[in-house]
Amino acid sequence: MDLADTPEDAEFRARLREWLGKVLPTLPPKPSPDDWPGRRAHDLGWQRTLYDAGYADVHWAAAPTVRLIFLEETERAGAPYVGANFVGLLHAGPTIAAEGSAGQRARWLPPILRGEEVWCQGFSEPDAGSDLASLRTRAWRDGDDYVVSGSKIWTSHAEVADWCELLVRTDPTAAKHRGITWLAMRMDAPGVTVRPLRTLAGSAEFAEVFLDEVRVPVAHRVGDENDGWRVTMVTLSFERGTAFVGEVVACRRVLGELAREARRNGRWDDPALRRRLGLLDAEFRALWRLTQWNVSEASAGGVPGVGGSVFKLRYSHARQELYDTAADVLGDEALDLDRPWVLDRLSSLSYTIAAGTSQIQRNIVAERILGLPKGR
Ligand SMILES: Cc1cc2nc3c(=O)[nH]c(=O)nc-3n(C[C@H](O)[C@H](O)[C@H](O)COP(=O)(O)OP(=O)(O)OC[C@H]3O[C@@H](n4cnc5c(N)ncnc54)[C@H](O)[C@@H]3O)c2cc1C
Repeated sequence: MDLADTPEDAEFRARLREWLGKVLPTLPPKPSPDDWPGRRAHDLGWQRTLYDAGYADVHWAAAPTVRLIFLEETERAGAPYVGANFVGLLHAGPTIAAEGSAGQRARWLPPILRGEEVWCQGFSEPDAGSDLASLRTRAWRDGDDYVVSGSKIWTSHAEVADWCELLVRTDPTAAKHRGITWLAMRMDAPGVTVRPLRTLAGSAEFAEVFLDEVRVPVAHRVGDENDGWRVTMVTLSFERGTAFVGEVVACRRVLGELAREARRNGRWDDPALRRRLGLLDAEFRALWRLTQWNVSEASAGGVPGVGGSVFKLRYSHARQELYDTAADVLGDEALDLDRPWVLDRLSSLSYTIAAGTSQIQRNIVAERILGLPKGR
């Protein structure tokens, strides 16, 4: 893949830059991190603005170079990122596009693109995180519906979601990877109870979700019954492979800001700090190259490959190192939650856990890339 802008890419970049310059000053202020209904409205509003301007499907339909230019330019201009649309735009939507029927694609994809519906992910359970295939939420057939009972945990954005990509066990007698089914469940269906969980950063961005005989139409099953593990791998490959790509651009911007702040407050004189900033710059440049590879592979093959685990593993650690370095640049001010980067530092702790822990990514890299024997 040639990474230099073609004349068409350069024209796309210039047009986007001009549009961002006009539209961003007209956006309403960002709601506070705790105001989830406000954040939902804000994020959906931005998605609608993108839709009206013809940029809504850039994550799905555009050539990889165009997607990467979009990420670079929106980040450079300080535009909002996907926010509450993370699951819908970056992994439930792409899964439905790859695995759903024509009717399902027509029903679910346009509202995601138009900024009308928010999705969440109901995969993890109290006893099924890393070992996701041991999930126990049960679903049994009753006429044209599945009846679902069980509970999910760590469901990001559950409080403000319209739909949930839900994993259920439809055959408890089959081997654990075989009896799983991928369903789309309405979050306002009778029997769904959401109990928010507060993080150490103070906001309730995820929740426990309790399911008590919730009826989900069989027509809302994506893929075949008991074939949900294969569909799940498609979802996870998008989640690990391409969903975080915009954040790499943001991290590179933060790195520049850190260097400027260090020069301003005198910490730049510390050679150890300068060395860390230099190493991080090299890390994020390498991660951006890996991002280009993953996005390109996803668009060639339809689904990102196992390289997503390499990216997720290194990116989550680099992000933590970035914000630890930010704390060194800030000095005592790193204790002030209102300072830039301080909440990001707290939330960066979750990156080596969410979307599969680092240990699990290392297992995947060891077994599927290096060909080492399977762990026990
Ligand atoms: C910010 C955040 C948002 C999240 N959002 C969602 C969401 O929207 N939807 C959703 O479904 N889930 C979500 N999760 C859950 C996430 O997917 C799980 O936390 C993760 O998969 C780990 O599972 P666990 O917490 O049960 O830890 P466990 O699986 O219990 O792991 C505990 C420790 O044991 C290690 N370990 C476990 N198995 C192995 C092994 N085989 N080899 C080596 N080490 C191992 C792990 O690496 C970890 O260090 C979110 C998590 C976070 C932190």
